[in-house]
Amino acid sequence: MHLWRIAVDILPTRMQLARFASDLDIVCPLCELALESSLHLFQQCPVPQALWFGSPWGLKIANLQFSSPSQLVDFVVCPPHDLLLDKSQQDQFTLYAALLMDYVWSLRNKVVHGDDKPNWDDLGRGLWI
Ligand SMILES: [Zn+2]
Repeated sequence: MHLWRIAVDILPTRMQLARFASDLDIVCPLCELALESSLHLFQQCPVPQALWFGSPWGLKIANLQFSSPSQLVDFVVCPPHDLLLDKSQQDQFTLYAALLMDYVWSLRNKVVHGDDKPNWDDLGRGLWI
């Protein structure tokens, strides 16, 4: 369900919410370096980039070109074969990527809603499968 929300770009990111409240802060709450869109939050932001790179695949997600969140989700669901060592890793990669994206969204919500600030030293702890 989370991947579907990302793919159709309906997550309430700050860019989406700004369509209804023009005075809203639209900067990414994780890095504070760019506007918070779905594509930024799950691919272009340094926080998910560190998580993607720290994955078993050592993925440099910033080097991949996606023009929309749906292209990113397509990549997650049907990863290119040259990324994986064998076909049996496809499900493992898709599951890991879905968990990563859910983790980023929950991290973002902790920052936005003022819960405890994330401990950046523990970034990704508990994400390993
Ligand atoms: Zn960011």
